[in-house]
Amino acid sequence: MMSLNRLAPDQLPRPDFASIPRYSAGADAEVDLSDNTNQWGTPPAAAAVLREGLDVSRYPDMYGDSLKRTIAKMAGFGPECVVTGNGSDDVLDCVIRAFASPGDTIAHPDPTFVMLPVFARINGITPVPVPLAADFSMDADALLATNARIIYLCSPNNPTASPTSVDTIRRIIDNARGLVLLDEAYVEFTGLQGFLAEAPGLERVIVCRTLSKAYGLAGLRVGYAAASAEIVEIIEKSRGPFKLNRLAERAAVEALTTDTDWVAARVREAVASRDRLASELVAMSLPPLPSAANFLLVPTPKAFVLAKSLRDEGIAIRPFRDLPGIGDAFRITAGPWPVMERALAALRAALRTAPRDAT
Ligand code: PMP
Repeated sequence: MMSLNRLAPDQLPRPDFASIPRYSAGADAEVDLSDNTNQWGTPPAAAAVLREGLDVSRYPDMYGDSLKRTIAKMAGFGPECVVTGNGSDDVLDCVIRAFASPGDTIAHPDPTFVMLPVFARINGITPVPVPLAADFSMDADALLATNARIIYLCSPNNPTASPTSVDTIRRIIDNARGLVLLDEAYVEFTGLQGFLAEAPGLERVIVCRTLSKAYGLAGLRVGYAAASAEIVEIIEKSRGPFKLNRLAERAAVEALTTDTDWVAARVREAVASRDRLASELVAMSLPPLPSAANFLLVPTPKAFVLAKSLRDEGIAIRPFRDLPGIGDAFRITAGPWPVMERALAALRAALRTAPRDAT
């Protein structure tokens, strides 16, 4: 890699990029329970599309029209109310860029999805962290009081897994000064409808979803959002054409249509496994926060020591340092019970050897 001090002053990157971190996470473990993906794998009809393959000598559809039509039909509005992206990361980034000018603010719960403040800063926008309420839900009054250009909401929230009530979300939508960007990456695990179907009719609301979690397509990078046709048109300007590749679009349509029963069954298993895992963790004196998602957040000063021990056994969990109002904690994805048993056995062994006051 070229060293920055070999660059002439007018070749240097934007000064504010110096403090923006490059994302780093612990992939490549034998069992990866660090990123809340579907631990049962890829849904079968989507997997069949991938096996068959298709001609990729042609460009994909510019804005992912067949996926837009599929989502629109599923939700009961027109395809002009859907924007697709290269993962919901891409959609969040495009929304922020389209609706906030450099120097504007975006308020977000703290802690929340780690990439959100990063996407803000990449676009020259100032993130305004707002602590969660005592029950780990989003604090409506405090978020509204920021008067931010965009309010980002995440329910269930990552990494806490905590839901926020429909009434609280509605109150924020009704009273926000600017846009409300609602991230429903884990909504499938809540058993609730979420706000997708309503989004186009709600002024200035964008509801964002992903096929990386319940739908088992993280490696293909497919995300989408629903909003009014006017808002979608603006987001698509910052998105640009060809973000969704041909294979991903075909597989995503299959996952959302042919694979729905498979996905619903895996969601039920994930929820059952999560609850069983929570009971086992309580019995080990590692009580997790209440979860409405497919993962658990476990506050413990031993988070990093435990993550390291599990990593040595080929299991990745995600440790967090000093989360506001929580302290150090680890996040673990719910998966098939035999996998959970292996993780629990590794945790028990690690607890036996971890120093009492280890951090
Ligand atoms: N939002 C939340 C809350 C997430 O947890 C994640 C992934 N960890 C994303 C968005 C991004 O997901 P993707 O880009 O894979 O769609």
